Amino acid sequence: MKENGKIIAAGIVIALGVSYGLSDYFDFFKVLSLVSVILGGVWLWLHDRGLFDNEEIKRLEGMLVESDAVIAEHEEVLADYENIFDGQVSEVPCACGKNVFRGLFVPNVDNIIKCEECDSHYNVQVTLNPILISEPMDNEAAIEDLSKLHKEATEEFDN
Ligand SMILES: [Zn+2]
Repeated sequence: MKENGKIIAAGIVIALGVSYGLSDYFDFFKVLSLVSVILGGVWLWLHDRGLFDNEEIKRLEGMLVESDAVIAEHEEVLADYENIFDGQVSEVPCACGKNVFRGLFVPNVDNIIKCEECDSHYNVQVTLNPILISEPMDNEAAIEDLSKLHKEATEEFDN
């Protein structure tokens, strides 16, 4: 309804404008009525063809809302990845004191970096060094436990 109001207002402005523009050559009211009839016909024709079909507009608006949600979700995922990435970035200061390298250094691979301030080259070695923090497994106790379980199971089976 709001859209129709805008279209009618635009039609009136166009009809008056055209009629005024041609008023030096033709009678203002005759041109006004002619232009009004033409615009009304055009409006009806477009309306019949579904140009002002609100269902289509609603469908398109729904698609826009959906794609906004998808974009928001992607931005969230990207932000998560950026946080993970930022957590993995290491800083290595150069001996010259003028530069700090920021980057992802891969373990067990030569990570060659060059200082742009002093032209020094570095090979940043990253080694994985696991340290056992739980109690080490007692093999004898484990074997004892297993044979006890085995004995119980076979006794149960025999009875
Ligand atoms: Zn340097």
